[in-house]
Amino acid sequence: MNCYVTAETAPGETRAALTPASAAELIKLGLTVRARSGLGTAAHYADADYTKAGVILTEDHAAALADADIVLRVRKPPAEDIARMKRGALHLSFLDPFNEPALLAAFAAAGVTAVSLEMIPRTTLAQKMDALSSQSSLAGYSAVIEAAQRLRMVLPMMMTPAGTILPARVFVVGVGVAGLQAIATAKRLGARVEAFDTRPGVEEQVKSLGAKFVKIELGATGQTAGGYAQALTPEQIAKQQAGMAKICAQADIVITTAKVFGRPAPRLLTQAMLDGMKPGSVVVDLAVESGGNVASSRPGEDVVTPHGVTIVGHHCIEGTVSHHATQVLAANFAAWLVHFWDVKTKTLRLDSPDEILRGCLLTRGGVVVHPQFQKAEGQKG
Ligand code: NAD
Repeated sequence: MNCYVTAETAPGETRAALTPASAAELIKLGLTVRARSGLGTAAHYADADYTKAGVILTEDHAAALADADIVLRVRKPPAEDIARMKRGALHLSFLDPFNEPALLAAFAAAGVTAVSLEMIPRTTLAQKMDALSSQSSLAGYSAVIEAAQRLRMVLPMMMTPAGTILPARVFVVGVGVAGLQAIATAKRLGARVEAFDTRPGVEEQVKSLGAKFVKIELGATGQTAGGYAQALTPEQIAKQQAGMAKICAQADIVITTAKVFGRPAPRLLTQAMLDGMKPGSVVVDLAVESGGNVASSRPGEDVVTPHGVTIVGHHCIEGTVSHHATQVLAANFAAWLVHFWDVKTKTLRLDSPDEILRGCLLTRGGVVVHPQFQKAEGQKG
């Protein structure tokens, strides 16, 4: 079978879906691996190392797509790429399926089997292929580093002959994978860290990292069977904002990571709360791409409020550490293919009643097969 890994075309995307190491794994399975020349350059993986691993580099994108049984890429494809693929071929990438009904329809119309990285269940068995986690973890780290670079302060306490510098105060809102890594990174840099999440059970994780859990009484919250947060009512959001305002006013850095799977991110920091923050403080909105947790955050931009608070709304903050983001992402792709690979027939086993497959397979055989997206596509759910 032929596997083709495209170079990313989205502006600012620095990651790739293949490393020389992951290519070697795929080739060991028996796949012929082609990749677009230069695909790893922005993440510092050299063409020569791909070639050494056995990858066939190509400049002919259209021919490689048309010939591929499996296509790997980080971001969703342009429509013309879907139309060029073979019927029955597999496409594996992030797809943003809740917001892309037309893309799913195009995959179905082309008879392409589309798999969404976002929809891989967050189970122990699927951990190796969990791209949301691998990227979120680096996003949490990068959020602290990006904030620290913009803050005109140091993070640790320093006792100097000229006086004592107090530790910076960091507030992390949303303690999933990204939030936990942000807490750990800020603690390593010596900051005083507080955190809040609506999911029960997070308090212990926050404390185990040496941070303080902020208690805000919201009434019943809860989480889905998949471990995701449930959306709050407008009254609960208002209570949360009131509880957070004082902590934000004292913070030097606020990192927001609050997301509700499949829905727009909750708006948690209002303009009034930003106005109440110290001039020079920095807010990093990791939910900026899914609607934003912070009033006036903008994807891909730093916004400085009239009051001097910097709001960082990076498009893809893990792209600032693209070498490692690519390393783990490529390993996620390889793990997915290894899991579904039949060593005897040297083909993918996509007919099994596998729980992981049921979660992430969106289109197959000319139709949308995932029940969550069938209605959006106009099929019977
Ligand atoms: P996410 O990106 O969906 O959300 C980030 C965090 O925001 C979550 O902790 C969520 O509870 C929180 N949040 C939502 N609304 C909020 C609000 N109003 N205020 C404050 N916080 C709010 O989450 P994620 O990092 O993708 O993790 C989702 C779940 O999956 C977690 O339970 C995590 O432990 C679990 N998980 C399991 C595995 C595994 O078992 N293999 C792997 C990764 C993640």
